[in-house]
Amino acid sequence: MFKNAADEDGNHYSAGHLREVPWVAIPPVVTAIRVLERIVPDGGLLFDAAAHAFQNIPVASAASIGQAGLRGRIEAFAAWVSGLARRLGRDQEVVPDDPYGAIGLARFRRTLAWHIARRPGGLVALAIQYGHMRTAMSAGYAARGRDGIHELLDVETARATADTLTTLHEDLTHGVGISGPAARRAIHAAAQAPAFAGAIRTHRQARDILGNPALSVYDNPRSLLMCVYNRDRALCHRLEATDAPRLDRCQPSCANIARTDHHAAGLLAHAEALEKQSVSEALPGPLAERLARRAGQLRELAHHHEHDRIHPQEPMS
Ligand code: SF4
Repeated sequence: MFKNAADEDGNHYSAGHLREVPWVAIPPVVTAIRVLERIVPDGGLLFDAAAHAFQNIPVASAASIGQAGLRGRIEAFAAWVSGLARRLGRDQEVVPDDPYGAIGLARFRRTLAWHIARRPGGLVALAIQYGHMRTAMSAGYAARGRDGIHELLDVETARATADTLTTLHEDLTHGVGISGPAARRAIHAAAQAPAFAGAIRTHRQARDILGNPALSVYDNPRSLLMCVYNRDRALCHRLEATDAPRLDRCQPSCANIARTDHHAAGLLAHAEALEKQSVSEALPGPLAERLARRAGQLRELAHHHEHDRIHPQEPMS
């Protein structure tokens, strides 16, 4: 269901409307929803106000917990997390105090948006979960009012892009090499990083960056590469109507790939780890062969990088 549903004339459906695009959720979220379903009465809202106030009522109350209630829950949760972290001697996991007083809900949403924007592959999956729509929803939905978490997501996504470009710019300035079919485009994008680094504060600034195709650069640490996204060249979503890369389905022959020396070092480290595993006597033969083969492929990619790498000042061969 989504709560901002309206008919063709703009009349609000107070009961909400079933989503055409289902939510995509990671396993802990599914588990949390299953637990909530058991807490509330049959057919009730997941955050049924009465059930969460521990009133023993047999039917759903038709009202969910309000802002003040949510704020109190989040602050209590943060206090519990900090207490547990201190008891376990994990001070680095204590939730820091906010210098301007408790801001519970707003801070929680910002934290959530930060993690969504920076989670590899999560950008797309969790964006769908929030009904956010650069990727999957219809133009009609996207044209409706966008606020709250959607704007925060844009700001954090733009900041994540800016962080990627700033890091790349610093690397290239310090002599780090880059290779791949999209290396030139990556260099061009990185050269623009100083213009907006640390300057993204408003939703409008974020939209300007996200709407600039020359800046669509995503680090993909899982695949040990960088995606310099160009929709027409993308191999990960040939048949899908989407304008964002599927980092979780990255194809090694895509023309949007660029690799820096750091990615190449990662390839070699990963190859070495696989080779160590592959010589273990405990491993079945076919599995050992597969690991060794994969290690060989990674070494080959690193070798290609070493051969093709360029610096911004050099012409590309
Ligand atoms: S396949 Fe291409 S467009 Fe898709 S994530 Fe990989 S590099 Fe980016």
